[in-house]
Amino acid sequence: MLREIADRQPEETDADAPADLKVGYQGEPGAFGEVAAAAHGGVPVPFASFEKVLEALGQGAIDEAVFPLENAVVGGITEALEPLAAAVLRGLDLVATRLTSVPVRLALSAKQGTPLADVRRAWSHPAALRQCTQRLAGMGIEPVVCYDTAGAAKIIAADASTDAAICSRHAAEKSGLDVLIEDVSDRDQNNTRFVHLRQADHARARVPLAFLRTSSMTATNRLDVLTGATLLPLAGTPEHPVRMWVLGADAARLQALAPARDVQVVSLGQPAPHASRLPPKEGTAPAVKSLPHATARRAATVVEVGPFKVGGGHRAMIAGPCSVESPEQVMRIAKEVAACGATALRGGVFKPRTNPYAFQGYGYEALEWLAAAGREVKLPIVTEVMAVDQVQQVAQKADVLQIGARNMQNFDLLRAVGRAGRPVLLKRGAGATTDEWLGAAEYVMASGEARVMLCERGIRTFETSTRNTLDLGGMLAVRPLTHLPLVVDPSHAAGRADLVEGLARAAWSAGADGLIVEVHDDPARALSDNEQALVPARFAELARALALDPNAHLPLAQLRAWVDAIDHDLAELVKRRLDVARVIGDSKRQTGRAVLDPKREAAVRRTYYEALPGSKQLADKLVDLLIEAARAQQSIEE
Ligand code: PEP
Ligand code: MN
Repeated sequence: MLREIADRQPEETDADAPADLKVGYQGEPGAFGEVAAAAHGGVPVPFASFEKVLEALGQGAIDEAVFPLENAVVGGITEALEPLAAAVLRGLDLVATRLTSVPVRLALSAKQGTPLADVRRAWSHPAALRQCTQRLAGMGIEPVVCYDTAGAAKIIAADASTDAAICSRHAAEKSGLDVLIEDVSDRDQNNTRFVHLRQADHARARVPLAFLRTSSMTATNRLDVLTGATLLPLAGTPEHPVRMWVLGADAARLQALAPARDVQVVSLGQPAPHASRLPPKEGTAPAVKSLPHATARRAATVVEVGPFKVGGGHRAMIAGPCSVESPEQVMRIAKEVAACGATALRGGVFKPRTNPYAFQGYGYEALEWLAAAGREVKLPIVTEVMAVDQVQQVAQKADVLQIGARNMQNFDLLRAVGRAGRPVLLKRGAGATTDEWLGAAEYVMASGEARVMLCERGIRTFETSTRNTLDLGGMLAVRPLTHLPLVVDPSHAAGRADLVEGLARAAWSAGADGLIVEVHDDPARALSDNEQALVPARFAELARALALDPNAHLPLAQLRAWVDAIDHDLAELVKRRLDVARVIGDSKRQTGRAVLDPKREAAVRRTYYEALPGSKQLADKLVDLLIEAARAQQSIEE
């Protein structure tokens, strides 16, 4: 990237540059910075630190400064970038006028007559030392950090030891040192690129260069791919949190593609729009400011289609295969999930696949199969539309239209589904912020459809053990911002069947209004997403664990299994109650307090009356039994 930019630089010296253009650099005369400073006819001015160079530039003591940005061996030169970033973010208004690439040959130099075998330590600037880590280690030479390459040569010249300096040949000769090895860089053809900086004069800004200021590294996810920029991460300071250095990207484009919140673009390369210099807004206000906020918070919306109800306390369980594969397959799975208490049937007929040669879905024919299965088990059907021209025909058969993650910002499609007269399940894009997600919902609502469900299905992060990272934090962050029901898709988030139940439980506990889960009765042969499909038995366990309402159509065997599971839980709870009661009894005895406490007993009784209204007799019997068991266990003599 840098090479490209460097190649684009006009090589002639500035016609209007003063004859004695003072160019500051960090280091001693003979340092590589001096070469960059002199490269275009300037007069190099040395400074002890990068901070001092910036100070001089800010005060107008020098006309220009050169800063090393990137080295071929070690990448970003953080020693220079950190102070530059800090100064720019503090408000020093600079532009980048050109780049200069300086060939770097790191000469290992020592006092005249020093044999190489006697050299035990080598002094240099930390960035230079990093460029020859391997060669030095191979020779058993220990690196010693000092402020500059040429400065290292001066130190060695004045020192009585057999230590060496790592610097340019020019610097070595200037200090009267012998060059023992011409170049100890770990890589041939080493070079460092320097950027030339001037006080803000946007007419001169020629190098697209910017800082991104953000507290979230994931906010910059894929910005490099999207904008063609090179991102060099910087450590940042508590005062200026995580920042990134960006090269080669158009500031306006960066600003447009960076997530609206939490990324501030500070451009050095081009006249930045005034707004980009404003600090990012604190708090959680939605960034969709110019819209009428159809999604904004008010009383919860309940999306309702037959037995399917979600939002405002109603919870949904959408289940079914990833893809509709045959009339029989979808019918079998429909019966299984309905028996477990699912409230809607899912199934893809148009599949967004990463690989164009992978199964793409059986289209409208499969929609008929899905609709038939839905009718049979009396569940509404949910299916994805991928294109505007599918919307009308799919809407004739489907009860709910799904917008897939990949299409979350296909605005034409969002408008089209918004006009189709069907509720919409809007998946969050894998790279979309919560604001963008709400913005997408706003599109659907602005086009006329009020029944929108937001579906969190995992976002792309650095983690590779799961297909995506389920962003429950994002879901919770959206909760106070909108009245729309929130659905969670643990299947696409995990990409692995073994994690689906855990994520589903977590989402449920976090207050998701609904779940959408992929179920297949022969996952090994599934035509898509086979690794994340739950078999019906495991889906049944999940549905029971989440205590869905018993469905009227449940077959007897399923109901029995359900009761068995409840009895198992009850027995476990009774056992735990007895254990805790015993501990209480022990502690009372140790502190000499009466174990029996009629007031407590009355309180326990009240708890049961409340939980079992209209069954006072049962409540009394249960409490009697529990108290009796507790006493027996504590061997209390009455
Ligand atoms: C799906 O639901 O099958 C699907 C493709 O989901 P997503 O768009 O979330 O990847
Ligand atoms: Mn799928």
